[in-house]
Amino acid sequence: MRSLFPFLSLYRTHFGRLLLGTILAITSLAASIGLLSLSGWFLAASALVGSSLLFNFFYPSSGVRGLAIGRTISRYFERLVTHDATFRVLANLRIAVFSKLIPLSPAGLNRYRNSELLNRLVADVDTLDTLYLNLISPFISAVMVILFMGIGLSFVSPLLAVIICGTLTGLLVLFPIVFYRLGKRLGKIVIQSRAKYRSQFIEWVQLNAEFLLFGVQQQATAKLQQTEKEWLDAQSHESQLSGLSNALLIMANGILVTVVIYLSATAINVPTAENPEALIALVVFCVLASLEILTPIGIAFLHLGQVITSAERISEITEQQPIVQFTGQAGWQKIAENQPLVEFKQVNFTYPQRDENVLNNLSFEVLSGQKVAILGKTGSGKSTIFQLLTRNYDPTSGQILLNHCKIEEYPEQTLRQHTVMLSQRVHIFSNSLRENLLMGNPNASDERLLEVLNQVGLGYLIDEQNGLSLWLGEGGRPLSGGEQRRVGLARLLLSDAEIVLLDEPTEGLDRETEQQILQLILEHCQGRTLLMITHRLNGLEKFDKVYRIDNGSLV
Ligand code: ATP
Ligand code: MG
Repeated sequence: MRSLFPFLSLYRTHFGRLLLGTILAITSLAASIGLLSLSGWFLAASALVGSSLLFNFFYPSSGVRGLAIGRTISRYFERLVTHDATFRVLANLRIAVFSKLIPLSPAGLNRYRNSELLNRLVADVDTLDTLYLNLISPFISAVMVILFMGIGLSFVSPLLAVIICGTLTGLLVLFPIVFYRLGKRLGKIVIQSRAKYRSQFIEWVQLNAEFLLFGVQQQATAKLQQTEKEWLDAQSHESQLSGLSNALLIMANGILVTVVIYLSATAINVPTAENPEALIALVVFCVLASLEILTPIGIAFLHLGQVITSAERISEITEQQPIVQFTGQAGWQKIAENQPLVEFKQVNFTYPQRDENVLNNLSFEVLSGQKVAILGKTGSGKSTIFQLLTRNYDPTSGQILLNHCKIEEYPEQTLRQHTVMLSQRVHIFSNSLRENLLMGNPNASDERLLEVLNQVGLGYLIDEQNGLSLWLGEGGRPLSGGEQRRVGLARLLLSDAEIVLLDEPTEGLDRETEQQILQLILEHCQGRTLLMITHRLNGLEKFDKVYRIDNGSLV
């Protein structure tokens, strides 16, 4: 239950709306019960009086009408306000979860699959929205309405008021405890098998061709169906329990009605009332209507297990501490010519949860304005150098200086402003071509974007219909590996950063394009400092220095 606390604190920002929603819920529930009680009494009293005119039917009939209208209006606004508040809380929650997620990337998220992360961010966060809507609001409304009923009924018969409200309160305490316990384990299974099913389903869709080629499609489908069955079984079991909760409530209500009818013959004693017998109908109808208070409660607590499991799954991610914290406040000094700009001093590095050292006592420096090529076998640790330079990880020991200042002393913004990296894998966001490029420089004009696109040889992407609004990524124009690299390169050319880090920028390009791209990069890097990882030996004469890395050291 404690795992819900961090999420409850998000409710503070929308407390007013949530409170209003609950007040409206109370009003509509009270109006509903009042309506049935008053109607019951009115019909009974009319029947007793018969056709004589000694009965004021104006007040009760307008009361019935008023309550009916009141119930409809308050129910409408209750739905409106509570859902509006829930969606606002949900929006906050998503932002809160996402902003915890970002600093964890990439080290803290490596062990989760993409589909698993998506599941937690979408489905689990969604599950949390029932917390207020199905649990908190109905529970508070139930408590308040039982209280009002008690006060109202005590004018008719204190004894019946105590019996009715005592029973309702007992059920209100008992049902949540019993059904929470019964549903706890199931809720966990529902949430876990939902996540498993989604992951497996995504895998099944993505790898369908491979499954078919290797003749294992049937096994894969059977595995998926097995997971689906677990999920459905747990849901069906939950539905049975929710049916049981309803059945038990109806039974309890029936028994209470019988007892109340039996007792009301002697217990109701209001000598001042015009038609005291009609009060029996009022009390009985009131008890009948009270079913509406309790029905949502049993079911809601049955699902509390799901809500708690989802909260735990989200907290499992968000409560991790990022391994890299940006706490420094250093400013970026103006770079002097031919001064060490990037310095590695006896840097050792091991990836978390791995044993072997990837960088061994690595020391080198790059002067401002220099163009340095980094060569080395695959797996020798070249990309890892860039991982440290962009502070995706911190060295295990040793120091990295950037512009004479320890790298950890810069705020993230400063570091990102002065370094730009083209990594081995370029990510294309599901967004327009324009937005994908603006990442390199948010202030670039459309003319500049078009110019850069032509430079990297992607001018043909611009058609007359969509221009820079061409949609990329999911559901958009697919890009080949080479095209993706060139989008990455375009981002890099747009950026003003002084330190340029390139991880095999020409990989997968033909020789002619490679020459052009290299030329472009070198032109862009005039007056900047370039570190470029490469496997290719041609063009090396254009660099000031060539470092060869082997086994995490400079050789
Ligand atoms: P390539 O030329 O193939 O790109 P590289 O020189 O860039 O190789 P790195 O990516 O730096 O090699 O990897 C160096 C070593 O670190 C490899 O043994 C690799 O398995 C390991 N490694 C790389 N990234 C991670 C990671 N995120 N977590 C754990 N180990 C990693
Ligand atoms: Mg690499």
